[in-house]
This record gives sequence, C-alpha cells and structure tokens, in this order.
Amino acid sequence: MENIVVTGIRGLPLIRAGDNIPAMICERVKVENGDILSLASTVYSKAKGFTKSLADITPSKRALHLAELNKEDPRFVQAVIDASKDIIMEYPFILSELPFGHIGVRAGVDQSNIDDGMVIFLPPDPMHAAAQLREEIRQLTGKKIGVIITDTCGRSFRRGQTGHAIGWSGFTAIRDFRGDVDLFGHELKITEEAVVDEIAGFANFVMGESNNGVPAVLFRNCQPWTGHDDLYFSKTEDITRKLLKEHCPS
Ligand code: GDP
Ligand code: MN
Ligand code: MN
Repeated sequence: MENIVVTGIRGLPLIRAGDNIPAMICERVKVENGDILSLASTVYSKAKGFTKSLADITPSKRALHLAELNKEDPRFVQAVIDASKDIIMEYPFILSELPFGHIGVRAGVDQSNIDDGMVIFLPPDPMHAAAQLREEIRQLTGKKIGVIITDTCGRSFRRGQTGHAIGWSGFTAIRDFRGDVDLFGHELKITEEAVVDEIAGFANFVMGESNNGVPAVLFRNCQPWTGHDDLYFSKTEDITRKLLKEHCPS
C-alpha cells in the first residue's frame, strides 16, 4: 500500500464570479485516476456568484429581532434567514438547517475572504457542485477523480472548528464497517466511518482559515472504500436536533 500524499494547490488568484475553477486547478496540478480533490466551498461560491452585497439586503422584522438578540448586523442576519430552511436555535448564535440537509452556525454564511460588505453563501446544491466539478475535470484531463466540497464548521461538545464535507462525488460519504470483524473476531455492529468528513478535516488543516490562499487540496493513494451516502441523520434519528428544537423556541 502506498503512502497517502497530500498537496495544497498553491498559486490560485482571488476567485471572482465567472472563474473556471476546474481549469485553474488543472493548470496547476496534474491529477491522476483515483485522486481526491477537496475544494473550499468559499471559492466555489465566489466563482458561481453565490454572494451578495449587504447594501442590497433589507432586513425583515424577524431579522431585526434576531440581530438584536445576537448583536449582529440585521442585513447579515437576513442573509442567514434567506439561506436557512429552518432555524433550529436563535440564540446565543443562529443555528440553521439548510435545504440540502446540512446543519450549521449562521447557515454557513461567511464574511471572510471576500470584499468588505459582501457575504458568501454555501452552494445551494453542493452534491451537484461536486459531481459537476468531477465531470469537468474528467473532460479536461481524462482522469476519474473524486471531489469533496468543504466548509469549516463548529461542532457540538468540543471547542474548535474543523473541515466538514458538504458535497461529494466519486465515492460514498460513509465507509460501512457493520458486519466486519475486529482483530478478535467480534462482529462490528454500529461502526460507520464518515470518511468524507475525515478527508475534509485534513484538507481544512492544509487550507488554513485566513490568508493562506490555498482553497484546494489533492489527496493521492487513498484506499477505496464502500458504504453509503446517508451522512445526515433523519429528523427522527437526530436526538440533538430534536432537543434543541424543544428547548430553544424559535
Ligand atoms: P471556507 O472554509 O470554505 O469557509 O473558506 P475559508 O475562507 O476558510 O478559506 C479556505 C482557504 O481558501 C484559505 O486558505 C483561504 O486563504 C483560501 N481562499 C479563500 N478565498 C480564496 C480566493 O479567492 N483565492 C485563493 N487563492 N484562496 C482563497
Ligand atoms: Mn465557510
Ligand atoms: Mn475555512
């Protein structure tokens, strides 16, 4: 088994609406069959124009109320409301469920790594985004790779943000160990490994959060895995979501 090689893709410019990210990446790195490309959602959204100027946003009554609660710009809060399918918690920060299933602080709306007065939304359909990037790279290079779209997210129970996968293509999100046996012959009954989040986490480490300028990371020699794509809990399974909804009226 070969060692995994992880390469941050350097030298990309500031991304603007209309930029062809797959072409820009393929100009800078030679991809091989089986490689996995992690791309920061921030640059994908900038390229596709999923951004907005705060000056163009008129806050609703609800946005004004939540902004007051959380001491935030009401226009920013309106952007968060617009990106949310459901607000699970209003305070001490807004926790949103997005239409594509992800649950994230402030609906993943960002104000960093973009011009002053602008916000960046998560891609509305990151699964489609990953599939499209994968196909575009296949057309440019003839190589079949996997793609993960990432975002930096907080998590429950622990301090510190990590990279999470919000879209993927070319493999399953989860590596399913159920039915496998451990070193002592015990059958594994519940172990499902969220591989796409593990890779996104390391990609996020290579990217950094501020002015590193590395929004894409290539992984080579990852062993293939099999499993399924049910990364998000269903509403009935998700105990944390249920408790938050019950205890944090919104
Ligand atoms: P997020 O995790 O998707 O919200 O994105 P971040 O704002 O944390 O950025 C992730 C990485 O991409 C960091 O290394 C940033 O410096 C870099 N980055 C963000 N925007 C750009 C851009 O337009 N061009 C380049 N070259 N790097 C960027
Ligand atoms: Mn982000
Ligand atoms: Mn980040």
